Amino acid sequence: MIQPGARAVFLDRDGVLNQALISGGKPGAPRTVDEFVIPPDRAACLEELKRRGFALIVVTNQPDVARGRQSIAVIEEMHRRLQAALPVDDVLVCFHDEADNCQCRKPRPGLLIEAQRKYDLDLSRSFLIGDRWKDVDAGNAAGCRTVFIDYNYSERGPSTEPSVRVSSLRDAVDWISSRGMNKEELLPHSVSDFKVKLFADGADKAAMLELYRNPWIKGFTTNPTLMRAAGIRDYEAFALDILSSISDRPISFEVFADDPDEMYQQALEIAGWGENVYVKIPITNTKGESALGVARELSRGGVKLNITALLALDQVRDTANALDGGAPACVSVFAGRIADTGRDPVPVMKAAAELVHQHPGMELIWASPRELFNLIQADSIDCDIITAIPDVLKKLSLLGKDLLEYSRETVQMYYDDARKSGFTLTGKARSQVAVGPVRGVK
Ligand SMILES: [Mg+2]
Ligand SMILES: [Zn+2]
Repeated sequence: MIQPGARAVFLDRDGVLNQALISGGKPGAPRTVDEFVIPPDRAACLEELKRRGFALIVVTNQPDVARGRQSIAVIEEMHRRLQAALPVDDVLVCFHDEADNCQCRKPRPGLLIEAQRKYDLDLSRSFLIGDRWKDVDAGNAAGCRTVFIDYNYSERGPSTEPSVRVSSLRDAVDWISSRGMNKEELLPHSVSDFKVKLFADGADKAAMLELYRNPWIKGFTTNPTLMRAAGIRDYEAFALDILSSISDRPISFEVFADDPDEMYQQALEIAGWGENVYVKIPITNTKGESALGVARELSRGGVKLNITALLALDQVRDTANALDGGAPACVSVFAGRIADTGRDPVPVMKAAAELVHQHPGMELIWASPRELFNLIQADSIDCDIITAIPDVLKKLSLLGKDLLEYSRETVQMYYDDARKSGFTLTGKARSQVAVGPVRGVK
């Protein structure tokens, strides 16, 4: 799925994704499906761009159709194979020849403009990768940055300068991934740019159902404190009510017993509420006694767990070891609470991610985020999940926002609020305060 405002990499086809047929030093399109060969390194290159949040759109001239030398059916079969082999989002084709004077034939930017309209792409943050002059000129005409893979064909070069010249698709991808974007552009601009999964933390039914409508909320967590704040009296009735609406995304419910045996019984009961239920078990009870013995037994017995309230790396190590080989589990580290003590949570979370990822089926949760920037931090250290309260999620719309524009809006807010409050100055105090030129300076 392509998010509105996404950046794209436009990819030429022949010579970039599949082998071109070289004749007389010039590249041509393969004529048969058998000649349509995708070299093995292409998939990894495109996967990397996909991971960086780019929409991948193939834009290709196939004039042999207009010239009567190729059928649309053969080209469509090639593109079925292309889309099966590579993670491309769409393939846009111009079937015309020069004489048709169409808008879609490169070097005209028609195909790129068509993709922009179809998917609401941000062309100014997009790239084109091509191996011929027409590709580069089309990319530049559309306002994209352009990467020219120069195979030294015996033909003219681009009439507009490419942003960079490289000698392979690998180099093109490396350039886009690093030097092609400045730091500012590497900032995620939409939720789709994140690898870390967003979970919503809450206990308010209406708010949870509202968030459930967003496909980018991948799961839910609750806790007794949030439930108390939401005025919930009947824990089980609340949980079953929520589960009747949310049954296809993970959701955590916490045990509230302090005694190990009771904790175990509650966990079994909560696990029985639904396939998507994770039972939340605090790392210790109120006496500071480890709950990992109980957790290990439950995990081995197939109960999905979310071990919660961890703050120290030793706790992460012990938890990961205790749950090794059991049911799928989450390890929930309260990064926000670590930060509240004046410690930087990032190195702790990075080390925690490395520990947790040694165990298949185990995921690390960045819990208690305090600000939107924590999403970027969690994403950058390969944390699997971040849980956020609605106040933090609301700020997602600010991702990548222009700072000068945000500054102006802030001033607007002060102005509007002062007006709404009807503030005025009367001039009464003026005579009592020294204003104007500072006295004593001649
Ligand atoms: Mg080409
Ligand atoms: Zn065309």
